[in-house]
Amino acid sequence: MQTQVNYPTYPVLGVNISSLSKEEFFESIMERLQIDDDNMHPPLFVVTVNPEIAIQTIVDNPFREILQSSSINTADGVGISWAVKHLYNKTVDRITGSDSLEKICGVCAKLDQSVFLYGAAPGIADRAASILVSRNPGLRVAGVYSPEVADTYFERLPITVQLQLQHASVIFVALGAPLQEKWIHENMHNFTRCRLIIGIGGSFDFIAGNKKRAPVVFRKTGLEWVYRLYQEPVRWRRMLRLPLFALAVVILKASRTTSQKPAPVALPERETA
Ligand code: UDP
Repeated sequence: MQTQVNYPTYPVLGVNISSLSKEEFFESIMERLQIDDDNMHPPLFVVTVNPEIAIQTIVDNPFREILQSSSINTADGVGISWAVKHLYNKTVDRITGSDSLEKICGVCAKLDQSVFLYGAAPGIADRAASILVSRNPGLRVAGVYSPEVADTYFERLPITVQLQLQHASVIFVALGAPLQEKWIHENMHNFTRCRLIIGIGGSFDFIAGNKKRAPVVFRKTGLEWVYRLYQEPVRWRRMLRLPLFALAVVILKASRTTSQKPAPVALPERETA
């Protein structure tokens, strides 16, 4: 069973995208972290959704079910906010993994809640943790761990890591989608003190300076993906999903429009003389 937050959602290819504004999103997180109760189980499970994730849910049933049971699915990629606009004529705030990581660390430092950084290549999460602590004085880091094999189950992790994970209030998981969401779903029941768990993709790499985040102008114009493709050309295969996503949304809209057309009115049969 997952912790649910009540708010309207917009389904995009079967994934319910949150209508929460940035402020409301961080307020719900703040509220959750402020509740003085160690038995907050299960934690809020946040997924930051981009078009690649939405397309993946079409062909990956277990992944789709995970996203249907998560607490909040935010619009991470510009493609998702475009789809919500196209399908529902509504505007949703983009809430990315990287922005969330920074902001949530700030909240945790203020509220004296600890964070755990799980994932990324060896050394990266460690470096990201030191930088986050220097940017957010008072931030408590319960632990940091980069597994050799991404889908290592909780029971197979070193005992110290298991204990640290069990004591953290917030767990950031950086394994890339869909691995990180699957890992969270499989292991979340073990994190008894955790109030919030979120998959944040390559965010530790950005904080650690291992990869450069797109300049603000790219982020503001929704072209962050172009910059990432330029930085990591191996992403081209993933990018092929973008036109597929756009096509799927356009077809969905067209089929809805067609099915919403008023049914033809049956004319009374003419009486024959
Ligand atoms: N990663 C990992 N183990 C794996 C695969 C990926 O720790 O088996 C890490 C990788 O080092 C990177 C993050 O997961 O830090 C995924 O980044 P990606 O750029 O794919 O995610 P995105 O930001 O696109 O969601």
